[in-house]
Amino acid sequence: MKKLSLIISLSLIISLVFVTGCDKKTASENKVDEPNTSENNKEVDTDSSSNEESSSSDSNSNSSSSNNSKSEIKDNSSTSSTSNKQTNMSTKTSSSTKTIVGKTTKQYNIEKVNGVYYIKGILIANKSYALPSSYAPGGLKSEFTIAYNEMKKAALKEGISLSIVSGYRSYNTQATLYNNYVKRDGKKEADTYSARAGHSEHQSGLAADLNKISDSFGETKEGKWLANNCYKYGFILRYPKGKQSITGYVYEPWHFRFIGDEAKNLYNNGNWITLEEYLGIDSKY
Ligand SMILES: [Zn+2]
Repeated sequence: MKKLSLIISLSLIISLVFVTGCDKKTASENKVDEPNTSENNKEVDTDSSSNEESSSSDSNSNSSSSNNSKSEIKDNSSTSSTSNKQTNMSTKTSSSTKTIVGKTTKQYNIEKVNGVYYIKGILIANKSYALPSSYAPGGLKSEFTIAYNEMKKAALKEGISLSIVSGYRSYNTQATLYNNYVKRDGKKEADTYSARAGHSEHQSGLAADLNKISDSFGETKEGKWLANNCYKYGFILRYPKGKQSITGYVYEPWHFRFIGDEAKNLYNNGNWITLEEYLGIDSKY
């Protein structure tokens, strides 16, 4: 009897190991074949082909996971009572861990909540601040889609048609994208237009590429409208022209990041201030 149960548990373990192995294989196979569809592959940030994104449909479809993300944001603000900040640098709640890890040059606290950095309540994903590989909202967050839909409606009234070309990307999708660009252009060049895994705002579910991934998009009526109106809806032109030394990325007139009310403070009459300048942070590997 003992022997029999030993055999049964052994075979259970073996089959478990086998199944796990299979899953891994499938996952890595999936990663590999990621077609690159952009016509001008300099601007590769694009890739609209991954599972996470629905390139043709707009943001609505991506909002399914919004509840999770909402509660994350809430956790962040609800645990940030000012008295805690001064007396106790690290706060633990049942669902999240929040730590103040430093100050920016503008004297804002740099907060780390479950491995994600926030400054002034704004999630940070750039070359200096990475998202954990486990951070996976699974789609554009509800705060993004709600604001985007409002902006889209307002734009349409002025004859401007907006669409999302590339929205949420998982850590693994970004890893594959970036690695492909490195193979094609070399690391130094790739780093100017594509983020390493964990460093992309697309993983946050709070950023998207709109309409057309092309330098000339900034000169179109849609590009101009976005650059001059997006802040009203909480979006920022994340990588303005001439700010590569600050953001770490070339001009991307198509990439918009949702930050909420603070966006109006970065607009600066169309002469956009970068998030890095505004908060007093670096963007360097
Ligand atoms: Zn982008």
